[in-house]
Order: sequence, then structure tokens, then C-alpha cells
Amino acid sequence: MTIKDIGEFGLISRLASRCGDNLPEGVTGIGDDCAIIPGPQNTQYAISTDLLVEGVHFVTKEIGGYELGHKSLAVNLSDLAAAGAMPCGAFLSLALPEDTDTDFIDSFAEGFKALGKQFDCPLLGGDTTLSKSGITINVCVIGVRSQLYEISRDNAQIGDIICVTGSLGDSGAGLDYILHPEWKRDEMANAFIYHHHHPYPRIWAGKFLAQSGCVHAMMDLSDGLASDIKHILARSGVSAEIELENLPASLNLRCKYGSQPSKMYHYMLHGGEDYELLLTVDAKHFADLKAKYPQKFGWLSAIGRITNGDPQHVRYIENGIDTTPIGSPWEHFC
Ligand code: ADP
Ligand code: MG
Repeated sequence: MTIKDIGEFGLISRLASRCGDNLPEGVTGIGDDCAIIPGPQNTQYAISTDLLVEGVHFVTKEIGGYELGHKSLAVNLSDLAAAGAMPCGAFLSLALPEDTDTDFIDSFAEGFKALGKQFDCPLLGGDTTLSKSGITINVCVIGVRSQLYEISRDNAQIGDIICVTGSLGDSGAGLDYILHPEWKRDEMANAFIYHHHHPYPRIWAGKFLAQSGCVHAMMDLSDGLASDIKHILARSGVSAEIELENLPASLNLRCKYGSQPSKMYHYMLHGGEDYELLLTVDAKHFADLKAKYPQKFGWLSAIGRITNGDPQHVRYIENGIDTTPIGSPWEHFC
């Protein structure tokens, strides 16, 4: 048997069952966006790490050094946002081929620094090594939050309203253009590609939502809504209904693919790398939360509800009729 047979999540479960147990009291380990460790004075540290591998996560001739620096930190900060944590600092490890251009590294550092500065997240350390094949980037971020924020993937409750921040699908549409260099690129295509290269971590929205007291479960969307929601459902032992017509599409996505709804929904459900927040909200408090949600954070859309069905099952509904959206989620090794 190889890891192709068990897939990414089979591999993580295998590691977790062999060496992810015996955690000290108050510590949360594998399975959520961040590990949680008790901190001083009623705080908790939230810690997360993500890898970006050339040819898997980015195509070097498409992404500039600055964008790659921004994105490497952004995808990590997005996990802190999902925990409602404020960044404290980051570690950066690089495996680089010996012919890597120093200008590329300088631009990378600029992009990394510019985003870090917005959230007071300095670079604290890392590691550097020679790579015999392609660039590999690993970032680890440390954040801090109040221990009162009981936000995780495992607390969704039957009747909760399922919400997402921002819009979905632009990043997936951008990736499709990157993977199909023969496709003609217009202004909208370039906007999708820009979106794919510039995810913005929803740190402030995550903090606001975590401290609202009415968000039961939250995570960030990295693999695509259809795949990511299953993590909340599995860990909470519940099922969900999603109304496709309520999925938030940007104006660009609607202009470009509104006449091909199945394609548009495909990008929104399976495109991945949206780095928006997916959350479940106590239905009694949803209207109040929505009214108080600051406009400067962008959209907060209700897209469905948590139901009492087969754990992990997602029922998709389009204008009142059950439907099966096209496409399947991205999974490493499969
Ligand atoms: P995210 O997309 O939020 O970064 P992942 O889907 O990559 O999360 O990982 C899911 C969970 O599995 C996280 O808690 C992560 O820390 C854990 N995980 C992933 N890979 C490994 C690994 N190689 N060893 C231990 N834990 C891992
Ligand atoms: Mg995550």
C-alpha cells in the first residue's frame, strides 16, 4: 500500500493515531486549523503551519516573488483567523535550488514583510536548505486569543446557520487559467489570477466572529467549500444543507460564468484557496450578528443550515430542488 491508496486525510489520521495522542491538559492537537496551547492570563496560543511546493501550490513563471511572499504568509494567517487569534510572529523555512535569483528572494521578503506589517506579525526565525528540485516554502505562525473563544471545527449544532465571509470561486477560476495557459486571458481572467495570488487573511473578521459568542464552529476555506465543510460535519457529528443560489459570487464571477451556473458553482464549491471563513452560527442570534457585522469586513452570507442527518452528508439544493453539483474536491496523492 502507498499513500496514494489512503489519500491526504487517511495519511493525517494514520500519523495522528500513531503519535498525536497523550496531549497535556488544555492542549488541542491535530484536526483543527490551529493547535491550541494554554497561555498566561486567560489566553491561549494558536499555532499553525503550511507548506507551499513549487509545481503543486504555485507555478513560478506565473507568480512574482512579492506575491509568493504575500501568499506564503497569508495562507498561514488564515488559519489563525479561523481560530479568532491575533498574530504574534512567524517562522519561515526555505528549500531553494542553488540558481534561485536573489532578486526573487528580495521581492519575496518584501511581500512577506508587507503583509506581516499589517498584522504586527514579524519574522522570528526559520531554516534554510539547498533543494535539488524546485522551491519549497514552509511557514509557521503563532497567534494569541482569549481562552473564552470556544471556536473550533467540532462544535456545530443542529439548527445553526452556515455562513461564509467574502465571495467564493474567484481563486479557483484563476487557478484554471494558470493551468490552461492556452486560454485567452481578458481583464476578468487577470482579476481571477490576481485573486488566486493575493488571498487576504480574515484576521479581523475572525476575531470579531470569535468574540461574538454566537459562532459555534469556524474554519478557513483552503480546499474548497464542498471538501472543507465535511471537516466541520465529521468532527461535530452532524449533516448540512447548502443552498447553491445563496453562495456568494463576486461580480466578476457572475459576469463571466453566470450563464453557466454549473461551472460557476463548480468553482465556488471545489475551486479551493478562497481563504474565506466558513462558520456556523446559533440561529437565534444570526440576524443580530449580521446586523452588527462591520461593513468594512465585506460580505457575511448565510448559505445553508446544520441538520440532523447522516453525519458528514451534505444536501445541495438549488431553488428548492435537490441537486448534485458537478466536480470533485482536490485531494493530495489521489
Ligand atoms: P489546513 O488546511 O487548515 O492547513 P490541513 O487540512 O492541512 O489544515 O490539516 C488538517 C489537520 O491535520 C491540521 O490540524 C493539521 O495540523 C494536521 N496535519 C496535517 N498534516 C500533518 C502532519 N504531517 N503531521 C501532523 N499533523 C498534520
Ligand atoms: Mg485551515
